[in-house]
Amino acid sequence: MKKQILKVGFDLDGVLLYNPARIIRPIMSFIKRYILKRDLDKFYYPKNKIEKLIWWFLHKSSLWPSPGIKELIMLVKKKKINAYVVSARYELLEKDFTRWINVIDPDKVFSGCFYNNRNDQPQLFKKKMIKKLNLDIFVEDNWDIVNHLKKKTKVLWIYNILDRNIMYEYKFPSLMTVMVYLKQLTINN
Ligand SMILES: [Mg+2]
Repeated sequence: MKKQILKVGFDLDGVLLYNPARIIRPIMSFIKRYILKRDLDKFYYPKNKIEKLIWWFLHKSSLWPSPGIKELIMLVKKKKINAYVVSARYELLEKDFTRWINVIDPDKVFSGCFYNNRNDQPQLFKKKMIKKLNLDIFVEDNWDIVNHLKKKTKVLWIYNILDRNIMYEYKFPSLMTVMVYLKQLTINN
């Protein structure tokens, strides 16, 4: 019997790309409100060096590849899984999307990379792609989207500190731990 390679789809932002600002944002709004005593909604220009640095970090820091990408590429190269990127990013982010795909997958080992080029609702786009690509597993960080997709396929959820108390069977703190799980799952293949 020909072995079935597991088809795994990955979201981009918050899954393959890591955004540190996402974690520190609640801390920053606390600092702004209680320490800098700023009105959160007012336009605010950073004055000193530290404020400037924080400002840059919050607004200009782009994401970087999540730890675990190397393990993911290895698993694909060993033919344990077929990997797809399915991002709900809209059409206007195409250039940035392509740039990140080249960073993450320089050897072009992914089976396909898709973004939301017709600007559909994110959850509908992902639902459609899961069906079209016949994905066995999808890895997602947005809890609302996990809820939409979990009837369609097995969804591994990467949670953040704010919703860590939500109970869910396939809940992971990071891409790295997802990769440990996938490695275990495919160990006999
Ligand atoms: Mg995401």
